[in-house]
Amino acid sequence: MVKPSVAILGLGIMGTGMATRLLSANFPLTVYNRNHEKCLPLAAAGAFVAATPCEAASRADFILSMVADDAASQEVWLGNDGALSSASPGSVLIESSTLSVGWVQTLAAKAAERGCQFLDAPVTGTKPHAASGELLFLIGGSAEVLAKTRPVFSVLGRDVIHLGPIGSGTLMKLVNNFLCGVQVASFAEALSLIDAGGLDRVKAISILTGGAPGSGILKRVADRAASNDFTPTFALRWMAKDLAYALESASGEGVSLPLAAVALSVFLEAVAAGHGDEDFSAVTKLPQKRMND
Ligand code: NAP
Repeated sequence: MVKPSVAILGLGIMGTGMATRLLSANFPLTVYNRNHEKCLPLAAAGAFVAATPCEAASRADFILSMVADDAASQEVWLGNDGALSSASPGSVLIESSTLSVGWVQTLAAKAAERGCQFLDAPVTGTKPHAASGELLFLIGGSAEVLAKTRPVFSVLGRDVIHLGPIGSGTLMKLVNNFLCGVQVASFAEALSLIDAGGLDRVKAISILTGGAPGSGILKRVADRAASNDFTPTFALRWMAKDLAYALESASGEGVSLPLAAVALSVFLEAVAAGHGDEDFSAVTKLPQKRMND
């Protein structure tokens, strides 16, 4: 069976893994990245490198964006030489970046004006899951468009969950990351008390991760802190972004999220301290910094 053509916009940590997966499954693939250098390994592996999102979109049945934030998404879809200007009516636009619900809904409306179909399809999972096709897709949009897109998702993900209309995949993703962000920020606070109280950090972390507080995210962050390796798999600044978007959604729904607000302030403190480009687990460096200040 002939595979549909796919364009990936954004070759960061996640987009690179996803593009590599599609190439190894023999999908005709076009890639675009703002910084051209990141396209070169994919060009060597057989992808067509587009000079602009517009060129990328003109070559694809499915156009998937995996970029940083609302501003980046706006740039690749609607900016100068944006993808929407050349997307064929009937093509499927997939926004997999973690964005604000408001922006995703605005983008979906622009896509509809052009006669394109749209899904918001943010993911859970991180760098290794993107590379191995084990992401979990959280979908907002119509069941018909999702059915059409399944051959692409089945190469990239272990599962696809349809949450409801456009925006609902994004809202679910923001709830997911808000809970992760709050846990990790509170773990950084726990480390402050452990250090200040003179407890043995290794023993304390082993008790916490082996006991009731030891969630998957806490274990992951504790491992990173123990190995002192903060090479990003998920940049700290993007956790701050996700908390901010979760708070924006909550405010729009008239819901108060005081814990998310505090977690955001902790992550912003870590960004201000120069840890924004490190892994989000670098928030655990704050206790040491506060003690030295
Ligand atoms: P990343 O490695 O920082 O890559 C960000 C991408 O966005 C790069 O391709 C970057 O291009 C592009 N970009 C940024 N600003 C842009 C702009 N103004 N115009 C055009 N392109 C722009 O991020 P990532 O970890 O792959 O994450 C991508 C998205 O997935 C984010 O929304 C993140 O929250 C979400 N996510 C990440 C993970 C994870 O574990 N990493 C997991 C789930 C969801 P340049 O290379 O030119 O800078």
